[in-house]
Order: sequence, then structure tokens, then C-alpha cells
Amino acid sequence: MTVFSAPAWDGHELVVFGSDAATGLRAIIAVHNSSLGPGVGGCRMFPYANDADALHDVLRLSRGMTYKSALAGLPMGGGKSVIIGDPRRDKTSALMRAMGDFVHAQGGRYVAAEDSGTGVEDLRRMAARTPHVSGIDDNEHGGDPSPSTAYGVFLGIRAAAQHRLGVASTADLRVAVQGLGHVGYHLARHLREDGAVVYGADVNEANLARAVEALGVLPVAPAEILGLEVDVLAPCAMGAVLNDRTIDTLRAGIVAGAANNQLATAEDCARLQEHGILYCPDFLINAGGIIDVHYQRAGLPAAAKRAHIERISVTLTEVLRRTDGSSQSSNDVAEALAVEYLRDTARASLPASRGAQTAHAMNIS
Ligand code: NAD
Repeated sequence: MTVFSAPAWDGHELVVFGSDAATGLRAIIAVHNSSLGPGVGGCRMFPYANDADALHDVLRLSRGMTYKSALAGLPMGGGKSVIIGDPRRDKTSALMRAMGDFVHAQGGRYVAAEDSGTGVEDLRRMAARTPHVSGIDDNEHGGDPSPSTAYGVFLGIRAAAQHRLGVASTADLRVAVQGLGHVGYHLARHLREDGAVVYGADVNEANLARAVEALGVLPVAPAEILGLEVDVLAPCAMGAVLNDRTIDTLRAGIVAGAANNQLATAEDCARLQEHGILYCPDFLINAGGIIDVHYQRAGLPAAAKRAHIERISVTLTEVLRRTDGSSQSSNDVAEALAVEYLRDTARASLPASRGAQTAHAMNIS
């Protein structure tokens, strides 16, 4: 297993491995870039096949958080943590408290939030040991950031449909949602309320049944959802679903979903474009959750949060417009825009005598 030369290393500032024999905790915390603020990102629990897979995942995810927060115009850096284990079998209160100790030992350089395999209750157990946890407050924001993520993805889908199809809503569009969990369910709800025909698949039968019964989602087998002939495919389960095996089988015109790291490799975005498929960068359209986390941490009002989430569609439209006029993929254009923002923000924070010549505000969000 390589660390400093890992493909997703990309100049990470901090990567720490932690273990606790008493609870069986094995975890990694990564902070990619803290030039805009502490590395804030979800704590994921997953039964990784080996340590290298866990490291690869945490590095890619924390790097994505840097770009996500920058594109959303948030004063936060990119960070992430993973716990190696099966959340259904290995998770205990003591293990989550031990994870809280591990987070606390980083002195605030990393702030944990909810992610796949962890929920608000787990975060509260961590919070018993550290203040560096977010997304747990029982205030007007409701704690769980997933509905905000879903709202941002929904607005992203509408913006993409406007850009590609020239339609102002998703009414009568066919949308396939892969994964009807915390985010996918609320995304399906927005789409149904907007008049879309929604197909859904989930390996968890209870989650699928809930969406079918409450929302009128049309059930599809998990093996068939990616290849469905639809206007929009919304991956809302796990990452790397867009790869050299699946892309040839897709029959959607637009891919826009919540899952992090949907592209198995950076080249897969170009591959999608070769197939005429418009790809909405995940770290741009799924930023509603991290925006929510910021408003919760700062105690800012819900109405301002909603307006902030709504700017996702403005940024996405700008990325799609720039992509149309370039040879780059939409993912590359979005990353370049985030790097531009990081650079300009760093310049703007220089002392006035040095920054004055170079600093300029970039209105991307
Ligand atoms: P979740 O665990 O609540 O939901 C995921 C759902 O996908 C589950 O119901 C699961 O059974 C299902 N699933 C897993 N594998 C599947 C498969 N092969 N086919 C069909 N369904 C499958 O997770 P979530 O919080 O809804 O997050 C979904 C994705 O969005 C994750 O990739 C997460 O990292 C990303 N994300 C979530 C948030 C958030 O606010 N929760 C924010 C940004 C990004």
C-alpha cells in the first residue's frame, strides 16, 4: 500500500491512522486542504476489503470535500474519515465514542459529519468526546443534512434539464434513482412533486417499499436501474458506478446524483461525454449537505441556507456553459473553477499591500 505516492494523495495536509483495541476501532482521518478553514466532512463506516481500499476512499473523498466547499463558497476545507467495519455488525456505542476521541486528538483540524454507515445518533456518541462534530443540533435545521443534499441535487437536475433539454421543470421527465436512502428518498419526493416519472432501485427492500408506497416510485431491480432508458440517471448509493463496464450500457441523457465519487476514474467523465451524456459533477450538485452543516455550525437561519443551496444551480449552469465551449470534461471544468476560487480567496486574504494588485472576487455561487 502506498501513501505519499497514492493516486489520490494530491498534496494532502494530514492523514492519520487510528486504532483502539478495546472497541475494535480501525479508522483513518484525512484533511486535504485547510486554506479556507478546518477540514469538514463525513465519517463513513464501510466493510472495506482491505486497508488500501479504505485509504484510497478517504483520500478521494477528502479531496472532493475541498472542491465541494470551495465551489459552494463555504469557509471550510476538505476532510473526511472512514471507519473500517460493517455498520450493521461492528458498530457499537463504545466504538463511536472511541472515534470521537480520535477526532478530538486532531485538535479541530478535522470536523466530522454524517455519511454512509453513520447517522445522527452515532455523531452524538462521538460528540460526547469531542466538540469537533457537526450536523447533530436539534435546531431549526433538523440535524440531518440529507434533505438539503437532496434539494441541491434536485435543483441541479432541473438546471441540467434546462441546459440540455430547454425545459424549466422536471415534469414528465423520466428519472432513475439508484438508492432510496437518506438522500435518494427526498430526491424522489422533490421529483415526484415536480411531476417527474421516477424509477427507483434499492438493495434494501424496506427502503424501496417506502418510496414506492409513499411517493409512487416505480420499482426496478438493482441490476437494471443503471441501464434504464430515461432522461436522467441519479446515482444516490455508492461511488464508482460510472466506469468502463457501465458507461457503455447507460441510456440516460443526463447523469446527476448525490453519490460521492461516481466516476471510477477522471477519464470516465470524458467517456460519458463521448457517449453524448451530460455529467453533472457530484461534488458540485451534492453540496447541499455541507452547506447545511455550515449553517448548523454557525447558527445561521434556515431561509439563508435555502437561498445558499439554490445557488448550486447557478454554479452548475456556469460549469455546463464553460464545458460546452471547451475540450475539457465537466468534471475538469468544475475542479478548475474550485482551484480558481481557492487561489483567489487565498490571495484576497494576503495583507492589503500584497493582495491589492491580485485579489478579485469571483462570483461563482
Ligand atoms: P444511505 O446509506 O442512507 O442510502 C444509500 C442507499 O443506497 C441505501 O438505501 C442502500 O440500500 C442503497 N444501495 C446501496 N447499494 C445499492 C445498489 N447497488 N443498488 C441500489 N441501491 C443500493 O446514504 P445517503 O446518505 O442517502 O447517501 C447516498 C450517497 O450520497 C452516498 O454516496 C453519500 O456519500 C452521498 N452523499 C450523501 C450526503 C448526505 O447528506 N447524506 C451528502 C453528500 C453526498
